Amino acid sequence: MLIDTHAHLNFASFDKDRKKVIDKCFKDSIWVINVGTNLKTSQEAIDLAKTFNKNMFSAVGLHPMNLDTGLIKLRPDKLEGGSYEKEFNYEAYKKLASSKSVVAIGEIGLDYYWKPKTVGRKKLFKLKQKELLLKQLKLVKELVLPVIFHCRMAHQDLMEILTENQDLRPQKAVAHSFVGGLKELKDFLNFGYYIGFNGIIFKEIEGINFEEVIKNTPIDRILIETDCPYLSPPQAKSKRNEPIFVKYTAEHIAKIKKVSFKEVSKITTENAKRLFNI
Ligand SMILES: [Zn+2]
Repeated sequence: MLIDTHAHLNFASFDKDRKKVIDKCFKDSIWVINVGTNLKTSQEAIDLAKTFNKNMFSAVGLHPMNLDTGLIKLRPDKLEGGSYEKEFNYEAYKKLASSKSVVAIGEIGLDYYWKPKTVGRKKLFKLKQKELLLKQLKLVKELVLPVIFHCRMAHQDLMEILTENQDLRPQKAVAHSFVGGLKELKDFLNFGYYIGFNGIIFKEIEGINFEEVIKNTPIDRILIETDCPYLSPPQAKSKRNEPIFVKYTAEHIAKIKKVSFKEVSKITTENAKRLFNI
């Protein structure tokens, strides 16, 4: 079996054939953690776990891109079908997080891909994301749950926040969809965190050597994921990604680590179970 530790079957992209996609997961013995990105998609991740019961888990959180800061143009994602929130509603998320299927708070973090152009607005934009993250880390501390971190083009700031706020630094976390070099990798490993790899490892990204990164990640710290419907691996020959394609990432890691596919499946499954307490 494999565990897709980061999927979005809760997103609009699967509205037409969700059940079919989930049936394929059952057939291939794939467990799935569906990750929320705002109140709506978090609730939907919980509902999915309720409907399909075993093999489906959920995470709840407010993704930094879904925070309406009023500072950049909003770009609603049709594949997600989510909505923006002006503030983090602590009590509402706390209530969601108490659902039986919730195994983590996520995805939360920093995302500087789209940002304001002027210096002042950029500063404020980053500050608002930092405030959002700290509020969610407070919830993590209260509920003692692991964290699924989303961090895009913001590594240094994330490290600073986690270093300066040691009381709120989570004990257990994964750097989901890891994109970085050995320095960034080491930073996460030093905190004791797991590293999540997905189909992005098949992409050509300037300055990033995924082979070297995977070689330098201890196998007992690796999680595999799809981030579906995004980041479909080329072997899937499908524009939309699905949890069953998580095997391609596992195969690639096996090749780089020079171990069998079975070994990667076994160890990454154990890792996910250990981190998410499932
Ligand atoms: Zn995601």
